[in-house]
Amino acid sequence: MDATGLPGDDIREMLRNSLRGFLAARWNVDCIRRGPSPQEVVAIWTALVGQGVASLGSNPDEGGLREVAVVLGELGRAACPAPMWSAALANLALSTSRSEAAADCLGRLHAGSARLALSFGRLDPDSGAGVIRVKGDRADGMVRFVEAAGSCTHLLVAIDRSVLGLVALDNARVEIVPTRAMGAWGLCEVRLNEAPVTPIALEDGGLDDLLLKGKLALAARAHGAARRAFELVTDYARERHQFGQPIGRFQAIQHKLANGLIALEGVRLIVDHAAKLHDLDDREWRYFANCAVAFASGALRQASLETHHAFGAIGYADEHEAPLHFKRVHLDTLALGGASQAKRLLASSLLDPDSSGLPEYDLGPAGNALREQVRGWLGQNWSGGRKAEFERKPFAKREFDAEFARDIGMTGWVGLGWPREFGGQARSALELIAFMETMERGEAPRIGAAIQANALMMFGTREQQQRYLPEILRGEAMHGMGYSEPQAGSDLAVLRTSAVRDDDHWVINGQKIWTTTWWGKYMFLAARTDKDAKPPHAGISMFIVPMDAEGVTIRPATTMYDGSFANIFYDNVRIPLDNIVGEVNGGWKVLTGALAFERGLVGGGIVLKVAHAFEQLRRHVMAKDETGTALSDDPIVRDRMATLAAEIEIGRQLMMHCAELAADGLTPPEYGAISKVFSGELMERFGETALDILGMRATLSEQMPGAIDNGRFEQNLRHSLMWVISIGTNEIQRSLIAQRALGLPR
Ligand SMILES: Cc1cc2nc3c(=O)[nH]c(=O)nc-3n(C[C@H](O)[C@H](O)[C@H](O)COP(=O)(O)OP(=O)(O)OC[C@H]3O[C@@H](n4cnc5c(N)ncnc54)[C@H](O)[C@@H]3O)c2cc1C
Repeated sequence: MDATGLPGDDIREMLRNSLRGFLAARWNVDCIRRGPSPQEVVAIWTALVGQGVASLGSNPDEGGLREVAVVLGELGRAACPAPMWSAALANLALSTSRSEAAADCLGRLHAGSARLALSFGRLDPDSGAGVIRVKGDRADGMVRFVEAAGSCTHLLVAIDRSVLGLVALDNARVEIVPTRAMGAWGLCEVRLNEAPVTPIALEDGGLDDLLLKGKLALAARAHGAARRAFELVTDYARERHQFGQPIGRFQAIQHKLANGLIALEGVRLIVDHAAKLHDLDDREWRYFANCAVAFASGALRQASLETHHAFGAIGYADEHEAPLHFKRVHLDTLALGGASQAKRLLASSLLDPDSSGLPEYDLGPAGNALREQVRGWLGQNWSGGRKAEFERKPFAKREFDAEFARDIGMTGWVGLGWPREFGGQARSALELIAFMETMERGEAPRIGAAIQANALMMFGTREQQQRYLPEILRGEAMHGMGYSEPQAGSDLAVLRTSAVRDDDHWVINGQKIWTTTWWGKYMFLAARTDKDAKPPHAGISMFIVPMDAEGVTIRPATTMYDGSFANIFYDNVRIPLDNIVGEVNGGWKVLTGALAFERGLVGGGIVLKVAHAFEQLRRHVMAKDETGTALSDDPIVRDRMATLAAEIEIGRQLMMHCAELAADGLTPPEYGAISKVFSGELMERFGETALDILGMRATLSEQMPGAIDNGRFEQNLRHSLMWVISIGTNEIQRSLIAQRALGLPR
């Protein structure tokens, strides 16, 4: 049990491992290709009953939807058609029923003497799923897409929103016709000809909720299948040679697989989150379950396609395992209305008149309290006339506000995550998220010099820490990042700006480019201290250069988003010897170490911006015009808003996972990269979608008559590219994910 009283991560891990081993030993995946016989399905199910999974979902202490998702994930992975999905739904639906029939049915299910198939019949959002009509104690009609009916003893079928009918399948008035779907056997059409039926009334939730649980469980199974095929192809990419090298070294393959991992991680996290909220009885579970289904459908299907592209012809042979998973992914993500229905429900909860906005995350007691504290502080210090005056300025003047930076410097929050020995508050990653989110929502100007402060704390001398950190903490000093040069962008190691020791000074010569915080008090500058070093990055050192030093010439340029960056020329700039941070020629470690610390939350910072902008877009979409219509009346607009909303939750889940890893003392750069790649590109998609939805008026820039929100949406799009290009381009990040997280060769 964990702190919430529900089974903990360790229990799920044990369940996952034991089932994986069990299925590897007991389930022969080969029989799936020809279509398993009912006896084979019965045999594996009977063995699984022995493992105790048949009762999962009937007693929250023993496991809820989260554990059901684990089991279905493993069955998906093993391509095993045991009727667990219907068993789990029966447990979730009937365990609270007071009817004798329900108790009897579950008793026999748990003992293994009854095997249940399940159909939502007329409640299935798929219009092709068939209909059952019930008159008295007899049922007539036909239902399709019923899993494993040929190997089950009973069918549970929806009669109305709160009643399930139980039908014995061995009755002469029942006909079961196996059907082939996506080229695979496993589904059936079940025809009832005045077959006896026992109605069972449901106590709570009703069938709409059960349907959603069913869809979430299918997403978990599809994820298991897609993940297994993805792991197979990742192994294959390491081994298969073409053109004299492993195909996994080709960047096209690396980036495909990096995309696959991002999609799979997104689905894994959101399915688990929705199931966890369900088990905690948190009403938001429905919202997250719909996000999971809406996202999983496209994401897993794309990952499956890319898996096959990377396999080439070998995966195309039906005797290969991958086609089984391809079929499973498609069937499970299309069933029960698939993503379309999930998006309709999401759109309703976001855009209907009584709807609420994006759910607020529980950031733990300290994070939630800080959120309130920061909200209160902004209400007092960043509101009314002061904020309005700032917002009246053109964007170029809104990148920083020195007075605000000093005010917030008095709160100590600039050092929120810093260790106490440096004057910081040593707060958790969740508290950092609370702070970032509230600042974003309050539309406060940027603050701090987080990366440079990290570098100083990690690699600076005591004197440097005492000199520079308090200024940053008080909001009095900003540091720029002087890395890029005209010929050294992604390939920073070839930078040429030189630092040569001359007695008790370093003398710096060279040109830096695209420096954003050129107006800061200091530049955190990477320069070459050994021009013959091999590899070249072993000859780089890091320096702190005061920007008022003689020989510094700044040529600012306007960026596409109306901000600015600068060309900066350093001509014989002399700085004291002790302005070097870290060791001579040890700059690469400083540079990458400080970035790695920060990168984990960069993606989080981006998705929080998107979430805030989404709320503003939502307001416009819901606003009624003089004729009483709103953009939200348009089904295409609803679909696109729902797609964005689901993706925002994936971005937030990736952010939260980075925070969890940080809490465990882990900052794997590949995970930060997954979050950064997903959220940066989401920001671009958001910007494009906002313009599509709002039309030409949204292209009117700030201070133009008629501009929507002072040109916020078009400016947002222009700004979004920065997040994809800077802090390591997304191509570089994808290579990092492929090599570090997937172990593909460099
Ligand atoms: C708004 C903005 C602000 C910035 N602020 C700063 C700053 O303050 N300080 C600073 O030092 N720099 C800053 N930069 C620069 C930024 O760090 C670089 O743009 C970035 O490192 C990429 O370098 P590049 O632009 O030269 O592109 P290039 O490296 O020339 O890349 C061009 C294209 O080739 C791809 N590419 C390059 N190498 C590879 C590879 N090995 N594999 C696959 N694809 C590859 C890239 O992904 C990209 O798509 C800023 C950039 C922007 C846009």
